Amino acid sequence: MKRENLIAPESYNIVMEMERYAAERPGRQALIWRDENGASEEVTYGQLMKNVNKIGNVFKEKGLRKGDKVLVMIPRLIAAYETYLAAIKTGIVVIPSSEMLKTKDLQYRITHGEVRAVVSYYPYVDEFKSVREYDQLTLFSVGGAVKGWHNLDALKEKATDELDMADTTRDDVAFLSYTSGTTGNPKGVVHTHGWGYAHLQTAPENWLCITEGDRVWATAGPGWQKWIWSPFLSVLGSGATGFVYLGKFDPKTYLGLLQDLDINVLCCTPTEYRLMAKVDNLADYQLPALHSAVSAGEPLNREVIDTFRHYFNVTVRDGYGQTENTLLLGVMKDMDVKPGSMGKPTPGNDVEIIDEDGHPVPPNEIGDIALKRDSPALFKEYYKDPERTKMTQRGDYYVTGDQASKDEDGYFWFEGRSDDIIISSGYTIGPFEVEDALVKHPSVQECAVVASPHEVRGNIVKAFVVLQEGVEAGSPDLVKKLQDHVKNLTAPYKYPRVIEFIEALPKTTSGKIRRIELRQKEKVEK
Ligand code: ATP
Ligand code: MG
Repeated sequence: MKRENLIAPESYNIVMEMERYAAERPGRQALIWRDENGASEEVTYGQLMKNVNKIGNVFKEKGLRKGDKVLVMIPRLIAAYETYLAAIKTGIVVIPSSEMLKTKDLQYRITHGEVRAVVSYYPYVDEFKSVREYDQLTLFSVGGAVKGWHNLDALKEKATDELDMADTTRDDVAFLSYTSGTTGNPKGVVHTHGWGYAHLQTAPENWLCITEGDRVWATAGPGWQKWIWSPFLSVLGSGATGFVYLGKFDPKTYLGLLQDLDINVLCCTPTEYRLMAKVDNLADYQLPALHSAVSAGEPLNREVIDTFRHYFNVTVRDGYGQTENTLLLGVMKDMDVKPGSMGKPTPGNDVEIIDEDGHPVPPNEIGDIALKRDSPALFKEYYKDPERTKMTQRGDYYVTGDQASKDEDGYFWFEGRSDDIIISSGYTIGPFEVEDALVKHPSVQECAVVASPHEVRGNIVKAFVVLQEGVEAGSPDLVKKLQDHVKNLTAPYKYPRVIEFIEALPKTTSGKIRRIELRQKEKVEK
């Protein structure tokens, strides 16, 4: 696909896509919702867009205008979809917020993002009460009435279900998305309607492989860019039916739902896949409807690919991207899979591995993953932070901050975040390869590998390991066994010279491993 094909028409609003499906097939299910207590709900495209129009009218009645920013904190509920669509259709900018955010995180976004209004699920409203701007905000509660807040459900009931679309262009802002904060303060990433269009040209068909009438389960939660990518834009922007599950992650529950709901397309995090692959009675589950399964957000372990192939006859395909862009690399439909590789550049995106001077490096050499800056899949800027925006630029390229190599066939192999790379005795070691080897060991549930300062070697490779239930950290020779296991699977100099057993790994609220915390701990202790 040519780059030009990723460019939206001048006058464009993302919601035009959903409106098209609502007009063509009003009776098709848009969303099927369930919670862990068995409650369920469904909505068709026709009903969904009527609700969207009603909420849009409420926003307008309460004084919100095109360009205003609204922070939305709703969990996996149909109301999240309706609220986002209503804001976007009205030209309001959405600040997606996970329900896991606390007052301090909300304060940061509200001040930095100059938030005008908040829409929150009612149980979370207390988190907002000590925010400095509380009295100036227009507040809406969802799911229940709250004193001092507009009751969005009640107002929606009374509102009219017709709404004109705001006259947005492809350059108007649709989302102000804050990054996960894996390596520091979250950054405010500015995305336009045109970015949403570029995403829709690649991800749903080529990567997720959504076909007409598919039932798609993308497990990310609202508030994360991955939710915007997959369950929100890719599902509703391709006329598919989204399955939404509100409940705790439990591998057996997930497998049961995949089976009972005949899910056709699955999009999960590597951690979810990993924990499902470790379930002891996988042979009891049958998933004949599942024809496509993808993973993104963190490296995907080979173990997962092998297990899913063996039991379910489906190849889990990896995809790489960031809050700042959309899917940049992926194992696309009909591509030969090289297990462990993130695949190739997505159509229309010029992705390269470059050196410090901004020149592409030869095959199999490690460098920075970079994207040509003219791609419509790239964000506009970091909000109010020109310096940080500038730091990502090298010549014609945007530099992702991740390192990888590319083989002769053009497949990309992830090395690690630039900050996570370990340099030991002059060797450069990507933590992921060591982690990938370690999790293959039956005693290991999860692990993270970091650099630990060392007098002679500069750094040594250290692994933090969470053991499988029932395995004792004190069992004889366990450390030696794990080290030998890694030496057998990777170049021996990469093995972890130190292994520490811990109860749980530090993670971001989106579930990503924060190696930075472990690294800092090592520095302090030395
Ligand atoms: P912050 O930028 O605030 O530190 P973050 O980078 O974790 O947080 P996101 O934008 O959510 O925030 O995550 C993008 C990052 O996730 C990528 O830069 C990369 O490090 C990692 N990532 C995404 N997909 C993959 C993948 N398929 N394989 C390996 N790593 C991945
Ligand atoms: Mg980042």
